[in-house]
Amino acid sequence: MTSLLKKLFATTLTITLLVSCTTNPSTPNTESSLPDPVVEESPATALANNDQETIALDTEEKTSTDSIVPTENPVPNNTQQPSISEDAQSESLPTTPLSTTANNCDQLETHIYCLSATLPTPPNTPHPWGELFSYSPEIFCASDLSIELCSNVTSALLAAIIEWGNYGPVEYWVLGIDEAAGAQLIRTYCDRRDFRKQWNMDECIERESSPDQYGFNYYRRIGADAVESGQPSVEAARGGAKHWGFHLFTSSIPVGFTDYFDIPGWDEQKIIFHEYFHAVQMAHVSTADSLDGPRRDETEGPVWFVEGGAEYMALKATQKALSSGVLDQVNTRGQNPDSIDQTLGREMFLWKMDDLSRKLSTICPDVPIRDIGWECESASYDIGTWAHAYLANKFGNDTLLKVFYPALDELEWEDTFISLYDMTSDDFYTEFDQFLQLPISEQLAILP
Ligand SMILES: [Zn+2]
Repeated sequence: MTSLLKKLFATTLTITLLVSCTTNPSTPNTESSLPDPVVEESPATALANNDQETIALDTEEKTSTDSIVPTENPVPNNTQQPSISEDAQSESLPTTPLSTTANNCDQLETHIYCLSATLPTPPNTPHPWGELFSYSPEIFCASDLSIELCSNVTSALLAAIIEWGNYGPVEYWVLGIDEAAGAQLIRTYCDRRDFRKQWNMDECIERESSPDQYGFNYYRRIGADAVESGQPSVEAARGGAKHWGFHLFTSSIPVGFTDYFDIPGWDEQKIIFHEYFHAVQMAHVSTADSLDGPRRDETEGPVWFVEGGAEYMALKATQKALSSGVLDQVNTRGQNPDSIDQTLGREMFLWKMDDLSRKLSTICPDVPIRDIGWECESASYDIGTWAHAYLANKFGNDTLLKVFYPALDELEWEDTFISLYDMTSDDFYTEFDQFLQLPISEQLAILP
């Protein structure tokens, strides 16, 4: 391996370890008027020190330790953004699919608020989810973040919508590191829930201010701890449930859009694609029944399938959006922009196979593929990404999104798998296990 290749490989490794997301049921106060959401979460994935490049940390420190107790007189959400009547909005609904990531961001008193430049602002009343949507996603960033950062988040989200369709309503909330700014964002979020009669203000504030339970303050602390410790880490999650009426995304500070670390912007863009694909998945498993409990598990499928699907589709879509120019590259960190196909393709898959081998030999030895779950760290992501590459090579790239997911809600996962891939999942595990024993050159040959 040349030193250049080694460097590229190590870079990929470093940034790939940044984020993972898992499904941990995290139910806010059960007395809450928001009933039992199942929240898709992202436990911290600390960067392993033994196989990464040294990452320089800027000298910036987290800045504030102000109280996070909410102030009085929260401003109702509808005073912070234009209020458009639903009649007026429906008249102006676009009839052609979104084709641009252009967006507008406003620096409001309490946060930054971004919308697509071409899609209309969504109405206050929840829109049925699980259906394609004609309104803009809404992006809210803490006031200690820059407008440019919030715009970068919005562009990536819009690029994902261009690729896969607009499965709204989407609220994407991005925390910074400053405690007071985080408290302001919590207040803005809870005002919105309270104003829309979705959740009691006090309960909302209490949960989101808690350092755990995967609330807003949890995500703020992920970023603050990363900056303070010099160890880059990003977590993002999709939450919400059908009865909430919207997809809730929460993210720690997207460090690839900042200068805290030497992390390229494409890694953050890929994370946003990954998270948004979870909304696409959930839109297809939520239309017929409750999201909670066994029904969801039976429908959604195993961890490797869900996370690997999001990761595989995110890699492909980010690669496509950047190569085609639909999405601009951000913070390339000296990397040749023309090499993005390789970075998100062959190099990423090489790294994932290497990471998988290491984790299966150390963390989860002798665990069969079907049982590789959250406890095996990101091994489920790695093996799932390769498994989806394998299935896409055998059955076509469009099968997952255009055939598998539309059939899923009615058939449930195992029967959809049998129907689409013409084998049981057990048969697949046997076949795929043999593939994993092949030399890497033969494995890479399945990639487009
Ligand atoms: Zn995920």
